[in-house]
Amino acid sequence: MILLGAPGAGKGTQAKLIADKFEILHVATGDLLRDAVIKETELGIKAKEYMSRGELVPDQIVIDLILERLKGTDAKVGYILDGFPRTVHQAEKLAKVEEVDIVLNLDVDFDLLLERLTGRRSCASCGAVFHLKYNPPKAENICNKCGSGLIQRPDDHEDVIKNRLETYNRLTRPLIEFYDHLGKLKNVPGDGEINGIFNSIVSLISPQ
Ligand code: AMP
Repeated sequence: MILLGAPGAGKGTQAKLIADKFEILHVATGDLLRDAVIKETELGIKAKEYMSRGELVPDQIVIDLILERLKGTDAKVGYILDGFPRTVHQAEKLAKVEEVDIVLNLDVDFDLLLERLTGRRSCASCGAVFHLKYNPPKAENICNKCGSGLIQRPDDHEDVIKNRLETYNRLTRPLIEFYDHLGKLKNVPGDGEINGIFNSIVSLISPQ
C-alpha cells in the first residue's frame, strides 16, 4: 500500500494507524533518512544537505534504501509506504520489483498544510508526532509515548517549508495522475480530525 500526500497532509500519523490495524509494516523513507543522518552514515551525510534545504534526496539513494528495507523478513506480511515514491522515476523503479495493491492520496488544502507543518512537534527518540493545536502532548514539549523531549524538525521551519511544498507540487503531485491511470488511486479528504480520516481510510481499504 502507498500513502501519497503533501508534506503535512498527515501521512505519518495515518500510516502508523493503518500499519497497526492491518498488522503490516510501516516504512517511512523520511524516518529511515533521519535515522541515517543521526547515525552519520555515509548515506546520512549525503542526505542531510538535501533534507535541510527542503529538497528531495537523489532518487538512486532513496531507491537503494527502500529496496534494501523491503527485503527484510518483516516486510513479507505486506507494508505501507509513507513518503515513497516521491517522483515518477521512483514509482517506475518500484513497479519493476513490487506490485502495488492500493494507493491512498491524502488531500489537504494548502493553508492547512502550512499550519500543520509549522505547529508540528516530533519526538526525536520514538518518532511520535504531535501538533501544538490539533494534537497537543499531555505535558508541554514532552512525548506522551516515551517521555522524551519534543523537537521541531529542522525542515519544519517556515523558510524550508516553502521549498518542500514547491518541491511536492513539481515532482510528487504528478504521481496522483500516474497511479490514477493505473486504476489504483483512492482520494481521501485529509482535512478533518485524525480518527475521522482514519475511519474513511478503513472503509476504503477494508473490502480489499
Ligand atoms: P518526510 O519525513 O517524509 O517529510 O521526509 C523528510 C525529507 O526526507 C524530505 O523533505 C526529503 O528531503 C527526504 N525524503 C523522504 N522521502 C524521500 C523520497 N522518497 N525521495 C527523496 N527524498 C525523500
